[in-house]
Amino acid sequence: MDPQHDDEEPEPDKQSRNTEFECPECNAHNPVDDGFVLGGEVTCYYCGVEFRVAEFNGRFKFKPA
Ligand SMILES: [Zn+2]
Repeated sequence: MDPQHDDEEPEPDKQSRNTEFECPECNAHNPVDDGFVLGGEVTCYYCGVEFRVAEFNGRFKFKPA
């Protein structure tokens, strides 16, 4: 079973869960095992800052919580 190809960069959208983000504070790349969704919160493992997941122009934006 191969419902979708993962070759390309996944497009952020409201339904899909995403499993990584780039910290706007320290630019660290953070894996998120449980994934995150629009309106959720993520924490940077490197600098410890929490961000709320928002959307801007179809892309995820991470605002300090
Ligand atoms: Zn960070």
